[in-house]
Amino acid sequence: MVKLIDGKAIAAKLETRVARGVAELATQQRLVPGLAVVLVGADPASLVYVNRKLVKTKAVGMRSIEHRLPAETCETELISLIHALNQDADIHGILVQLPLPRTINANRVLDTIEPTKDVDGFHPVNVGRLSTGTGGLTPCTPLGCMMLLDTVVSDFRGMQAVVIGMSNIVGKPVAMLLLERGCTVTVTHILTRNLSEITRTADIVVVAAGSPGLVRGDWIKPGAVVIDVGINRVIDADGKSQLVGDTRTEELGHAAATTPVPGGVGPMTIACLLSNTLEAARVSAAMHHGAKVAADMTSAA
Ligand code: NAD
Repeated sequence: MVKLIDGKAIAAKLETRVARGVAELATQQRLVPGLAVVLVGADPASLVYVNRKLVKTKAVGMRSIEHRLPAETCETELISLIHALNQDADIHGILVQLPLPRTINANRVLDTIEPTKDVDGFHPVNVGRLSTGTGGLTPCTPLGCMMLLDTVVSDFRGMQAVVIGMSNIVGKPVAMLLLERGCTVTVTHILTRNLSEITRTADIVVVAAGSPGLVRGDWIKPGAVVIDVGINRVIDADGKSQLVGDTRTEELGHAAATTPVPGGVGPMTIACLLSNTLEAARVSAAMHHGAKVAADMTSAA
């Protein structure tokens, strides 16, 4: 029987650790991490995600500051808001919920976020840091995938990993993280030929394609680990709406472990957002402390 990796339980543990870190910052530095969440328009899925993020942020003791803007908001207005949040010392993390309305260039908006407050890890500085292995803030879903893999893989070195999907928010960053850990990584996409032959060589498969049931049992070699990032809403045989992933979990009996949908990668994404916000607040506190020490030394000299 394939082991189902319990993302809900692992995310809950991470949230408990984050809550402890938030409490420590409050007592030691008198600092409460603040996360600004910016939502433009009223996309129903985005509303659900943003509400979930706000509830969880408060639950771990952080401040969450919500900016809900009308769908007609223009790019210049949105960029002005980001500039103001960049300057606000009480804000440690800035999250712009995607997708943005088509009239707004999302890249230009994301590039405006101060990299040390970019808790989604999408700013080119953080993307560069990830690809050079030099720290920075890591995108939440890929970070969550690695934490789930860490519960079943003790040594990644030399393993064959296949990533299905090459988006900037999941596929590419997860490939970078696997590479950093010593895997030999193959990144595949919609134009890849003979995908099933490639996945059959893998010790680890991470699928983020958004294609329900794409990965069949015979695509996976015995003993491999499969991380299913896909979230797809489908109508089942009884006409009921259902969430499914990109794999056919029922065909994965011969795999070592896999993640359920829902309850696998999904809960990790929000937990990692909280963890990144705590990290950003810690870095801000350390920078503030460093600047104060330097100022004290200058005035004493
Ligand atoms: P995307 O549409 O930006 O990218 C999809 C990628 O998959 C592309 O590179 C495309 O070439 C590839 N692809 C699509 N169909 C394919 C196929 N048949 N064979 C091979 N490659 C194929 O999507 P995304 O934003 O990366 O999201 C992917 C999936 O992950 C979606 O279902 C999304 O809802 C889900 N997702 C989940 C979380 C989470 O928290 N669990 C977070 C982000 C995305």
